[in-house]
Amino acid sequence: MSSDVIQHVDLAVLGGGTIGLSAAYYGAAAGLKTVLFEQYDFGNDKASSDGDSRMFRVMYSEEDMAQLAEASLGQWQEIEHYTGDRLLDRKGLLFYGLPASSVEGNLEECAQVMSQMGIPYTRYSAEQLPRAYDVFKDIPKDYFGLSQPSGATILVKHSLHTFARLAREHGAHLLTHCKATIRPCKSGKGPYLIDTPKGIFEAKHLVLAPGAWSNPVLSQFGMQLNLTIWQMTVAYYKVDPHLKWPMWYEFGPTKNNQQQLFYGFPLLDGSHKIKVSADFTNNQYQDPSQCTYQPDPRILDQMSSFMMHRFKGVEPTPHDAICCLYTMSPDAQVVLDTLPGFENVAVLTGESGRAFKYTPVFGRILVQLATTGKSTYDISEFSIKRKGIIR
Ligand SMILES: Cc1cc2nc3c(=O)[nH]c(=O)nc-3n(C[C@H](O)[C@H](O)[C@H](O)COP(=O)(O)OP(=O)(O)OC[C@H]3O[C@@H](n4cnc5c(N)ncnc54)[C@H](O)[C@@H]3O)c2cc1C
Repeated sequence: MSSDVIQHVDLAVLGGGTIGLSAAYYGAAAGLKTVLFEQYDFGNDKASSDGDSRMFRVMYSEEDMAQLAEASLGQWQEIEHYTGDRLLDRKGLLFYGLPASSVEGNLEECAQVMSQMGIPYTRYSAEQLPRAYDVFKDIPKDYFGLSQPSGATILVKHSLHTFARLAREHGAHLLTHCKATIRPCKSGKGPYLIDTPKGIFEAKHLVLAPGAWSNPVLSQFGMQLNLTIWQMTVAYYKVDPHLKWPMWYEFGPTKNNQQQLFYGFPLLDGSHKIKVSADFTNNQYQDPSQCTYQPDPRILDQMSSFMMHRFKGVEPTPHDAICCLYTMSPDAQVVLDTLPGFENVAVLTGESGRAFKYTPVFGRILVQLATTGKSTYDISEFSIKRKGIIR
C-alpha cells in the first residue's frame, strides 16, 4: 500500500501490552473497526507486561480497589469460560508482615476492607504462620498474616495470547514492530492522524496505553505527567521440591529508608523454582531509554539474604535474574481518564506496578472513555486532574 493512503478506523490503540490488548479486544467486540500499534512485539522484554506470572488479589487497603479487583475477577472468569483458556491459577495469596503502610497498602486496613465487604480470609498470628506454612524458618513476633482464597497467579503469556487472539477474532488489526506517532491536532476534536511504518491511519477514537513511554507519547499532545520509571529486579531461586510454597507478599520493616517489601510465586512449570521480586528499587529514571535492564546486584544481595533468613530449602544464590519496568505516579495510583483538551482520547498510565490484575476491566473502561467520555465504573480516584499528576 502506498504510504500516503489513509486507512480509516473507529478506534486506534497505542501500545500492545496487556492493557492495550484488552482495549483492542473490548473495542473490536463492541463492533468498532479497531487497530492496535505495538512498537516491539507482544510480551517484549522492554515493557511492563513481560514475564511468566503476576499476582491477582482482592486484598486492598482501599475498598474501591478491592471492588474493582472483584469486577475484574468476574471478567477474567468470563473470558476463561468463553475461551476455555486457563488464565488464573487460583491457589490463594498470603500477605504477612508488619501492619505499617507501604506502597502496596496496609495489612490491618486490608483486613478491615475484607471484613466490610464480606470477602473471606483467614488471619494468622506470628506463632500460627510457620505451623500453617511449612516453608517459614523464622517469623518476627510483631508480624501477622492474612490468607485470601481468590488470590491467584495470572499466567501472563497465556493471557497476552488470549487477549490478542480474541481481539483478532473480533476483527481487530494488531500491528507489531509498528511505532505510532500521533500528529498534532490543534482543534482537540479529532479525528486523529497517526503515522506508522505501516502507513497513515485516521482514527475517531484513541486509547493510549504506552506504559513507560507515556511521556514521549503525551508530548505529541503537548502534555507531560509526573511519572518515574522504576527498573525492578526479579530473581528465580531453586527450592526444595518437598515444601509447599504459597504465593506470598511480605510487608517488612524499613531499612536505610526502604521498606523491605518482597514477594514471590512458585513457578507452575514443575521446575521447583520460585520467582522473587523486591517491591523497591535503587534504579529510577525519567525516560525508558535510560533503563539499563541490568538486575541490581545490591537488590539481589538483599533478596538472597532475606530469602535465606526467612525460608527453608532455598538455594543461596538466584538461578537467574531479570528486570521489568514500573511506571510510577507520585501517589502510586493509576491514571485512567480522558485526556484533558482532547475529545475521544483515553489514557492508562502510572500503572505503579499493579495493573495486570485489572487487565479486563481497564480495557473495557478505556473503550468506554474513548467512545463516550465517561465510564460506568467509579474511576474518580484515577483522575488525571488529581493533584501532582500533570506537570
Ligand atoms: C516486576 C513486576 C511485577 C509486577 N507484578 C504485578 C502483579 O503482581 N500484579 C499486577 O496486577 N501487576 C503487576 N505488575 C504491573 C503490571 O505488569 C503492569 O501494570 C502492566 O503490565 C502494564 O501493562 P501496560 O499494557 O499498561 O504497559 P506495557 O506492558 O508496558 O505496554 C505498553 C506498550 O506500549 C508500547 N508502546 C509505547 N509507545 C509506543 C508507540 N509510540 N507506538 C507503539 N507502541 C508503543 C510499548 O512497546 C509497550 O509494549 C508488575 C510489573 C512488574 C514490572
